[in-house]
Amino acid sequence: MVLKNITRALKNIRKPRVTRMYPEIRSELPERFRGLQKLDKSKCIGCGICANTCPNCAIKIVRARVSKDSTKTRWFPEIDVGHCLFCGLCIDQCPQEALSSSKIYTDGIIKWKHEDLLFTPDKLAREEPIDAPEAEQ
Ligand code: SF4
Ligand code: SF4
Repeated sequence: MVLKNITRALKNIRKPRVTRMYPEIRSELPERFRGLQKLDKSKCIGCGICANTCPNCAIKIVRARVSKDSTKTRWFPEIDVGHCLFCGLCIDQCPQEALSSSKIYTDGIIKWKHEDLLFTPDKLAREEPIDAPEAEQ
């Protein structure tokens, strides 16, 4: 076993490196990659289908302002990404196509405190900053 591993290491010594200096050098993500959800408040009707569909009960329907500059409120999804599997079912089942996937999967998501993992409608709509580089969206 030891010899086999040494032989393999020697064979690969001249090959180009496959490891990356993450997070400085990131892997290119496929087009259909499912990262942090994005909400289009203007399309959402607050029907709750996304919440009923979620296999991990990560979505609650809560009241939030209809847009950044409005005081009017309506029902929207709020996602606890600490419980999210990123399966994409909420996106697939939304009758209004109000939810979509972004390419954000570490910046803006990884937090120390559980309450920071709660993505309110304002955060999902990116009306509140989520500390993720725009280029990743
Ligand atoms: S995001 Fe879609 S499924 Fe969820 S409440 Fe809004 S319209 Fe309904
Ligand atoms: S991606 Fe899947 S687990 Fe995450 S909120 Fe949507 S349905 Fe729930």
